[in-house]
Amino acid sequence: MLSADIIEVDLDVNQPAELSFEAGQWISVPFGPKNVRAYSIASTPLSSRRITLCADVAPGGIGSAWFRGLAAEQAVEFKAPFGGFVFRRDDPRRSLFVAEEIGIVPIRSMLADLAETGFELRAKLLYWGRDPSWLPYHAEFLALTRRCPGFAYHPMVGAGDAGRLAARVDALVTDTSDLVAYVSGSGVMIDAVRRALMAKGLDRKSVRWEKFW
Ligand SMILES: Cc1cc2nc3c(=O)[nH]c(=O)nc-3n(C[C@H](O)[C@H](O)[C@H](O)COP(=O)(O)OP(=O)(O)OC[C@H]3O[C@@H](n4cnc5c(N)ncnc54)[C@H](O)[C@@H]3O)c2cc1C
Repeated sequence: MLSADIIEVDLDVNQPAELSFEAGQWISVPFGPKNVRAYSIASTPLSSRRITLCADVAPGGIGSAWFRGLAAEQAVEFKAPFGGFVFRRDDPRRSLFVAEEIGIVPIRSMLADLAETGFELRAKLLYWGRDPSWLPYHAEFLALTRRCPGFAYHPMVGAGDAGRLAARVDALVTDTSDLVAYVSGSGVMIDAVRRALMAKGLDRKSVRWEKFW
């Protein structure tokens, strides 16, 4: 338990023996025909035999119940990897990462992967949680600011809404000419952040996103 409603689990990959994926991708867990839940991989591609997932179990549906009930040594079937919310290393622009609570998971994988492989980061992370317990990996991002001079971290707590987060984006971003954004969380937040960035001149395609709910 990372907090009362946030659970992290490690899965050992055994059939096949390894999982190749890109940081930011997700797995699909089946719950019967046509019923699946997606979970982003929180760990990095360097660890291909053990992956970490991290879930907010507050929604209380079938996926949350599955997560809460996971037991040590339990076999888990899933399909993977999926998704195109991945960091493009050949893109020379500065990055703005924006995450809402559990939406941090794919971004955590990307940032950890970039740090682990010595990529020279030129990035800001704006990360909102309703209170500090809703900022999993906060300590890791603080540590990253010490290791990577090109990385700036802007945590934000308190009653939040998409509008407040978008206003903070508006205040943080002064120039969009050399920027690409990676935004993850609710559809409402993604829309609000995209609108704020586009109002500053960023083109729509330069806002990449992962919608969790
Ligand atoms: C590409 C992708 C990656 C995802 N990665 C993760 C991940 O790494 N960790 C994770 O916890 N979830 C992740 N999700 C969400 C996850 O797939 C489930 O939707 C979530 O676990 C809720 O499932 P549930 O069956 O418990 O609730 P459901 O019965 O599916 O949902 C109940 C209600 O809660 C809403 N809801 C779902 N999630 C949230 C939330 N976090 N906050 C507020 N409302 C919510 C739903 O829209 C719905 O209205 C991801 C979703 C997608 C599409």
